[in-house]
Amino acid sequence: MPTVLSPRTKKSVSKSKASASSKSVQRTYYFGKAKCEGDGTMRALLGGKGANLHAMVKMGLPVPPGFTITTEVCTEYYASGRKFPNGLIAEAERAVAMLEKETGKRFGDAKSPLLVSVRSGSRDSMPGMMDTILNLGLNDKTVEALTSATGNPRFAWDCYRRFIQMYGDVVMGVQKKHENDHEPFEEVMDGLKRETKIKEDTDLTVDHLKELVARYKLLIKKWTGREFPNEPMKQLEGAIGAVFGSWMNERAILYRQKYRIPDEWGTAVNVQAMVFGNMGDDSGTGVAFTRDPATGENVFYGEYLVNAQGEDVVAGVRTPKRVQEMAKDPIIGPAYKELEKVRATLEKRFGDVQDFEFTIERKKLYMLQTRNGKRTALAYVRIAHDMVKEGLMTPEHAIGSADPEAMNQLLQPVFDRTAYEKARKEGRLLTKGLAAGPGAATGIVVFSATKAEQLARHGKQVVLCRIETSPEDLRGMIAAEGILTTRGGVSSHAALVARQMGKVCVAGAGEIFIDYHKGTLTCGKVTLKEGDAISVNGTTGEVFAGAIGTADSELKQVLIAGTLKPKDSQVFRYYDFIMKLADTYRRLGIRTNADTPEQVRNAIAFGAEGIGLTRTEHMFFEGDRIDAMREMILARDEAGRRAALAKLLPYQRSDFEGIFRALEGKPACIRLLDPPLHEFLPHDDKAQQALAKKLKVPAVSIKKRVEELHEFNPMLGFRGCRLGIGYSEVTEMQARAIFEAAALVQKDGVKTKVEVMVPLVAFKRELDLQVQVIHRVAEEVMKATKQKIAYQVGTMIEIPRGALTANEIAHTAEFFSFGTNDLTQTALGMSRDDSGSFLPRYQELEIIRDNPFASIDVGGVGQLVRTACERGRATRPDIKLGICGEHGGDPASIAFFDEVGLAYVSCSPFRVPVARLAAARSAIKNGTSPALKGAKPAARAGAKAK
Ligand code: ADP
Ligand code: MG
Ligand code: MG
Repeated sequence: MPTVLSPRTKKSVSKSKASASSKSVQRTYYFGKAKCEGDGTMRALLGGKGANLHAMVKMGLPVPPGFTITTEVCTEYYASGRKFPNGLIAEAERAVAMLEKETGKRFGDAKSPLLVSVRSGSRDSMPGMMDTILNLGLNDKTVEALTSATGNPRFAWDCYRRFIQMYGDVVMGVQKKHENDHEPFEEVMDGLKRETKIKEDTDLTVDHLKELVARYKLLIKKWTGREFPNEPMKQLEGAIGAVFGSWMNERAILYRQKYRIPDEWGTAVNVQAMVFGNMGDDSGTGVAFTRDPATGENVFYGEYLVNAQGEDVVAGVRTPKRVQEMAKDPIIGPAYKELEKVRATLEKRFGDVQDFEFTIERKKLYMLQTRNGKRTALAYVRIAHDMVKEGLMTPEHAIGSADPEAMNQLLQPVFDRTAYEKARKEGRLLTKGLAAGPGAATGIVVFSATKAEQLARHGKQVVLCRIETSPEDLRGMIAAEGILTTRGGVSSHAALVARQMGKVCVAGAGEIFIDYHKGTLTCGKVTLKEGDAISVNGTTGEVFAGAIGTADSELKQVLIAGTLKPKDSQVFRYYDFIMKLADTYRRLGIRTNADTPEQVRNAIAFGAEGIGLTRTEHMFFEGDRIDAMREMILARDEAGRRAALAKLLPYQRSDFEGIFRALEGKPACIRLLDPPLHEFLPHDDKAQQALAKKLKVPAVSIKKRVEELHEFNPMLGFRGCRLGIGYSEVTEMQARAIFEAAALVQKDGVKTKVEVMVPLVAFKRELDLQVQVIHRVAEEVMKATKQKIAYQVGTMIEIPRGALTANEIAHTAEFFSFGTNDLTQTALGMSRDDSGSFLPRYQELEIIRDNPFASIDVGGVGQLVRTACERGRATRPDIKLGICGEHGGDPASIAFFDEVGLAYVSCSPFRVPVARLAAARSAIKNGTSPALKGAKPAARAGAKAK
């Protein structure tokens, strides 16, 4: 990710290179009453936690004073081989002096010692990823001061021994060496408990704790050969180094990989005066959200503990109370009133829900942290809706901060909560596969598509369980509530269809063994037969034996089933508000990949503006059509093929008619036949014999033809436009079906916008030949029907040669649609269906970061897309550019397509909301939004050209 360097950052980098002293570089930023040098906009430099601490001070909120060491220092630290830059410690000493002055306490003072926390904090929060050190400044002298300040020697000595333990571990590296070792400090503690026959930590006396402190120090000496530093400034130096060091610990590195946080960002260090929530019943600590992060409801949501320090609340040692109960507390009740005020102030200032930490020391409230709260999709739409309406959140932030992927959560049927808990308790969880189609489904086990259809027709809910699925299973997949496969990945046929249809699907559950012959499904000791109940959760990948009740999502009830009125669904109203808002920002058009009128209607309900891809081959599998299709394939000559095609024509025509009617004038991009022919033929003897009987031909001739059609590499074989060139009568029939259907619906006053797409073009001449046929048929149909049909002809760019020669192809093509599935396969020379065996290892080794079939490979495939766009536009400036691969529904890929200036993305119907939101978010980020001033004029023109 390119990070924009601010002018001051640039300067500081060059300065620090130029001179070692580099006095003018400010490395620490003080926050307190004396002065507050930073503010909330300085996340990059001060980290998220630091910037917001400064912001809260500026707001006048009660924050213990302190200072932030910048993220740049972290970068310098690593650049110089883990050494502090010159002058850092002197600067820190000056900051500490200021802190001493403000607090009236001093480092190492016997009466009034300053204690601080040393906290990490990068630009994006990495919760719990790096270590925080509390109570720094304690030593043999200051522990006595803490004793008299609190009148509680046990508390003081417990703080001290915890500090030594933490410091010894995090800073001095006294850690277990092997996974099975005991923690060294724990061992010392256990030793003492054995000797004194004490069971619980809490029963240790002050003298025991003093003894423990002595033994801890000895342990440190033995392990490291170094003394535990008594001098607070030395302690601080060590702690700062440890925070920087923790930036490169395994946990932090893994976290950054997962959330794509660049290593270069570095972490800041916050040094802050300690406040004590554990000084007695007039003290406490807590964490809270300004609104409910699960439901989004505008209620104060949080927990606190009386007489406790920071981590205790989250650690779950004691059960915390709901924050509202604080109001009733006779001692700290007044602090609650203040907390309520803080809650409102924070939302107003930060324009979003805040997740914050507070501590009460002797009835006084202190704020220790605040950040934007993480939330569920439901909470997201509700909070964004409410806060925008309340004028608390800007619309740009509401859309710009969205997690588009999470919108899926709103569409999923869900397991009934109590039923789910019960199933877990009963141990019915069998295994976890790939979460391939979100949602929950329950039904009876069936192993074949036919059976699924049959039973579904009789009103049974079924889960289709297959080793793998193929296009032949489609009917069964439609009929089933859910799909379970034991093989195949996120882009397997089952997963693809599941997403397109919004079906619940768990794919590749490898621990399950399916035996079609016996009609059983086995996982470990459990065996299920056909007819037994099973439940799958495609959001988590969980597979359960037995039934678990489900409920349909409200959005589907409103938009698809029509069983719920919009006004009766709160969720829908929130969702609708956000989607309409998103539409005002996005530049990209959103289309859908749909093969049936029903899919088209669903997609439009979700906001699709047309079809980006209709795959015509799916249409040949239904009912009798497959017979006519097979007859066509098996025909020996053109006459035979034409006869069979004549039977297919009315089917195709009525399919397109239905689609055009459902579209009501929106554009339809229809792809001509693409897959290799053998995919339509039966492969086992029994099915071949049945077909032979039906077609009244000898079974051997069918077998022979199947063998003839066999290919070693079907993906690279006789498919795509190669079929239409080999058998132009197929193209002819399809074109006729398309244009006749258009003429028919136009006669009824329904407009059409037809785009005929030729697949797999690598050479301009291929397209020329196909386009000749299409134009000829169009003329014929228009003449015969006396109708004018507006149509365009274009191609799918899905072969590198096609992308590279886009300037030539654009002479003929009026549009390009990037078929990024095949483009990825052909550019990487990597079969999507076979990549499962090595891709995980590739990702582990970071050869490839994301699955290139799920998120576009920007560096490689992306270059082909970019090149094809540039070259295509050079020839035909107004060429329409879109994408119809799986990547059209992937937020990261959508951001890329927005950036290269495509006119639209196309995705499966149920991903349309995800795509709308992703496109809007990307337009805000890229500055291409037509709604924002300063958007690039070129991008706006692109939007108009759509
Ligand atoms: P994390 O990022 O893991 O939450 P923090 O730096 O926020 O780590 O600190 C860990 C815990 O210590 C938090 O509960 C925080 O409130 C508490 N804490 C941090 N600094 C102080 C301080 N100066 N006084 C009291 N508690 C503190
Ligand atoms: Mg924290
Ligand atoms: Mg393709």
